[in-house]
Amino acid sequence: MRISTLKVKLAAAAAVLCLFAPSAPARPRGDERNTLKSYYTPEYLAFKKRIMGEFKNAGAGRFSEFVKYLKVARDKGGDKNQKVLALTFDACGGRHSGYNEKLIAYLRREQLPATLFVTGLWIEKNKETFAGLAKDPLFEIENHGLLHRLCSTEGKTKYGVHATRDLSDVIDEMELCARKIYGLTGRRPIFFRSATAYTDELSLKVAARLGMEVVSYDILSGDATRASAKTMSRNILKGARHGAVVIMHFNHPEWPEMEALQLAVPELRRRGYNFAKLEDFSLKP
Ligand SMILES: [Zn+2]
Repeated sequence: MRISTLKVKLAAAAAVLCLFAPSAPARPRGDERNTLKSYYTPEYLAFKKRIMGEFKNAGAGRFSEFVKYLKVARDKGGDKNQKVLALTFDACGGRHSGYNEKLIAYLRREQLPATLFVTGLWIEKNKETFAGLAKDPLFEIENHGLLHRLCSTEGKTKYGVHATRDLSDVIDEMELCARKIYGLTGRRPIFFRSATAYTDELSLKVAARLGMEVVSYDILSGDATRASAKTMSRNILKGARHGAVVIMHFNHPEWPEMEALQLAVPELRRRGYNFAKLEDFSLKP
């Protein structure tokens, strides 16, 4: 493998970790069990049992990042020359439960629609902020998992990130966060992004059964590798093409996503791009 290729691969590897030391040291499973218990109701446990029964003979399938692109409104009679990008931002939680206020202020100022993937952990630490974001029609709130666990039905992980152990954990991660968001906003998420954006094929099916579509990304901004604003802007401009989904974060106030967008957005607009929330488009593999 050429050094440059290796560098790109390493950058990609670290890029969706939501920081270099994502969840290490490992979260004590006992604490996790106690948190989960507070969400378990008899109705939920019966629901989970039913879903588990439906998938009991299913294999995990491929473990990967399942990239999706916006399927633009051509088939809905939209403008054939339309060029659209989706800006998406994760808020991972745990030790990384900050809030990049100036980034959000910039999105508002520029009227840039964005999709925000939040975890239950981040919501707990940012209740008021979360309520404000959820009320703003510029933003779409989606599901990044209750405890920011990578969703694998057989306990696989990537980059050492804290992962689910089995199907039961995967359902908890997806469904309990969806219910939490619904309880607070009245809108149930329709997209799910696993921690690191890796997941297995069975998790895709489980998400679909729960009414959510798994989405990863196809332009890695590089924020989680601590790229400079200039590098991030270059990554976005280089990857920009109609229907692309850009991944960034909004839980690290010290990261320069706003500065990167200040560089990239005027150029994207000059090239004729518009910006959209995921909910306004269907996705294609
Ligand atoms: Zn994350």
